[in-house]
Amino acid sequence: MRKDNVKKYDVAVCGGGFAGISAALAAAREGKKVILFEKQYLLGGLGTAGLVTIYLPLCDGFGHQVSFGIAEELFRLSISYGAEAMYPENWLDNIGTRTEKDKRYEVRYNPQLFAILAEKLLLKNGVEILYGSYVVDLTTENNRITGLYVENKSGRSEYSAGTVVDATGDCDIAHFAGLPTALFEQGNVLAAWYYYTNESGYHLQMVGASDIPEEEKTGKEKKPLISRRFTGLDGKELSEQVCLSHKATLENWLKKRETDKDAVISTIATIPQIRMTRKIIGEYELAHTEMHTYFEDSIGMVSNWKKRGPIYEVPFRTLYNKEMKNLIVAGRCTSVNETLWDVMRVIPCCAVTGQAAGTAAAMTDDFSTLDISALQEKLRNNGVVIHEKDIIK
Ligand SMILES: Cc1cc2nc3c(=O)[nH]c(=O)nc-3n(C[C@H](O)[C@H](O)[C@H](O)COP(=O)(O)OP(=O)(O)OC[C@H]3O[C@@H](n4cnc5c(N)ncnc54)[C@H](O)[C@@H]3O)c2cc1C
Repeated sequence: MRKDNVKKYDVAVCGGGFAGISAALAAAREGKKVILFEKQYLLGGLGTAGLVTIYLPLCDGFGHQVSFGIAEELFRLSISYGAEAMYPENWLDNIGTRTEKDKRYEVRYNPQLFAILAEKLLLKNGVEILYGSYVVDLTTENNRITGLYVENKSGRSEYSAGTVVDATGDCDIAHFAGLPTALFEQGNVLAAWYYYTNESGYHLQMVGASDIPEEEKTGKEKKPLISRRFTGLDGKELSEQVCLSHKATLENWLKKRETDKDAVISTIATIPQIRMTRKIIGEYELAHTEMHTYFEDSIGMVSNWKKRGPIYEVPFRTLYNKEMKNLIVAGRCTSVNETLWDVMRVIPCCAVTGQAAGTAAAMTDDFSTLDISALQEKLRNNGVVIHEKDIIK
């Protein structure tokens, strides 16, 4: 590999899920030269290729919107040609004047259409997208990432960028950079979400229940499909997980077909359906008990998709570790405690941290020295509400 061939960018975003899309969009809107590496050939990550297509609530469940900015923009984009389902129906027409204050406001969108629309949005904003491109390693010097090694059909190439956003979902880049990370020790249950069609249309079949922590169990939950759990970080194990997921899909569909002769499998996931793998140990670890807590360095808010009421301000310090000056993390691998991880991993939260990471990446190449009020000002100008006290209640 010739060194004079290294391609240079202001911001490199690794991973094109909801976090990466949000980060790339935010950085490009700040006028930066942005490249996004995505190993699949479509954007959206678990939210498209993984068929996890429920855009969980932007609200607290008591009628107050808490996540704004790109989280809301992508929410609206996902249903811009109609939602596959709305809970409750037609609420978007009455946003801000909701009457059903005890409902969570969620939508189900079409994954293929969202991937196309997100791609169009990024291209329009000048983001260079490199599909089929796996970031496999990197170089560092003086606590900075100086080069990213990317493998694709052209072979191996080196890229350099002023700042790097780790939106891989698995914290791959922070791991390659040698930063401290933590694993999801208990492992993930098997999931086999798929789409089928029948006479009445196109349906999402959610096979495999979400894992419920011991302390939240009510005794009525569905059992996991199988007892085996998955780390999501081992190549062989991931292939086995995918095969078991396919097996569960087939079994579920064959059973369905006994009563619904028209049911046809139409789409299966092309990315392993794994929820939590590895997260960064950041400058701060946000805990599930810190709801309604004011953080001076908040970059926006998220709600709890499992419970009505809690609102979390997200500290900027959960997105980086100062040992690697020009690396920031977004999405389902930020620095939160074990219980909050299951809350922060979902789509709206990934968009909130993605927007903040992308905006910050456009402002500095040393995150620990960033002027937080300048970042907050930019986020506010782009629609984000930073603190809970600013929500109109
Ligand atoms: C079974 C299941 C059900 C779920 N249900 C819901 C739900 O109902 N609603 C909800 O909001 N959330 C749900 N989630 C969680 C949610 O979908 C994800 O956590 C969220 O979409 C993660 O977004 P992300 O951008 O952080 O990561 P990802 O979606 O994982 O995106 C990461 C992207 O980076 C790419 N990538 C990874 N490593 C590299 C690399 N080294 N180089 C280049 N590219 C790389 C991947 O291909 C991927 O596109 C569910 C998850 C699962 C598994």
